[in-house]
Amino acid sequence: MPLAIHEIEAKTILRKHKKIDSWFLSRYGMNIYRGCSHNCVYCDGRSEGYYVDGDFGTDVTVKINAVDVLRRELDPQRKRTPLLPGYILLGGGVGDSYQPVEEKYKITRKTLAFLAEKKLPVHVLTKSTLVKRDIDLLRTINETSRVIISMSFSSTNTIISKIFEPGVPLPQERLETLAFFKDEGFHCGMFLMPVIPFITDTREILHDTIHDAKKTGVDFIICGGMTLKDGKQKDYFFNCLQKHYPDLFLEYKMIYKQSTWGEPTTEYTTQLYQTFHALMNLYKIPKRIPPELFKDIVTENDRVIIILEHLDYLYKMDGKKSPFGFAAYSISQLHVPLSSMRYQLRQIKGVGATTEKIIQEILNTGSSKYYERLLKGDE
Ligand code: SF4
Repeated sequence: MPLAIHEIEAKTILRKHKKIDSWFLSRYGMNIYRGCSHNCVYCDGRSEGYYVDGDFGTDVTVKINAVDVLRRELDPQRKRTPLLPGYILLGGGVGDSYQPVEEKYKITRKTLAFLAEKKLPVHVLTKSTLVKRDIDLLRTINETSRVIISMSFSSTNTIISKIFEPGVPLPQERLETLAFFKDEGFHCGMFLMPVIPFITDTREILHDTIHDAKKTGVDFIICGGMTLKDGKQKDYFFNCLQKHYPDLFLEYKMIYKQSTWGEPTTEYTTQLYQTFHALMNLYKIPKRIPPELFKDIVTENDRVIIILEHLDYLYKMDGKKSPFGFAAYSISQLHVPLSSMRYQLRQIKGVGATTEKIIQEILNTGSSKYYERLLKGDE
């Protein structure tokens, strides 16, 4: 089907998160395009809840006034509340910022030019090698604030990628892009998501993918399972599965039962993360974006929230109970800096003796040695 492009005037661009996003280290994200001609079979942008116009994969909406809106949103004269520190996330959501229409419209490029002018740190998440085109602007931002370049993969297996990511540059090209940016002095990461159940989650494929990423010198690899929401997303995926992997149909039915977000069963997810963690510990690669990339970028409270949420993830994925997630949430509700209540930390809901000690260390040093060891698999 030929691409159908719809130009619109957007009313808003910046999407503010309720609290710091500890996966991407961002407080704000933006979707310049709605819909994505990369047309990945598993994309959850296809599900009804995202209200993407037309047919996902062939209809792409272009917010042609994105930079003007952004300029207005970030105008210090007009803003009632100051911009909260953190990376601005370019990517994710329901459309890759470097999908093919960007070659013509260059809205992502113009957005980067504006963010460079504002000296704001940027985290780019894409599947496209087109990001190399903007090396000049990214260099400028990296010199004045900071840039993280992340590329997403479901694995680095070419055959599987051709089936599930028909409009995306091949994994080898994406790996070369990561290596290119590493050579240029950028911090880079792999978002290994979604891992496709029973297809890219085998020990062998996970191992090959981590090994390939390690060769590029990535600073982190973040793993995420695949959600399949009932409706268009699940139907589209199952059609493809039926065609290429009909034998797996029953297994999918077993792990994707009725759930609001379309996530697989906890048993499946735990098994996936245990395999992933065991391999990551061999390679000593951080499983979340490491503290040296955010220590000096976010507020003191957000630094603590990020580290506690990372610890929460690491504990849970190791099959342990974690007190950290609840404490992180309570801290996100505070309106005062943690250092101003350094001696009353235990009054915060969810903060016990261990969490208090970790928070004190973060307030003193910007990080926690225990957390860093766990992150790299040294514990
Ligand atoms: S690149 Fe991302 S947004 Fe685009 S189709 Fe693939 S998963 Fe969806």
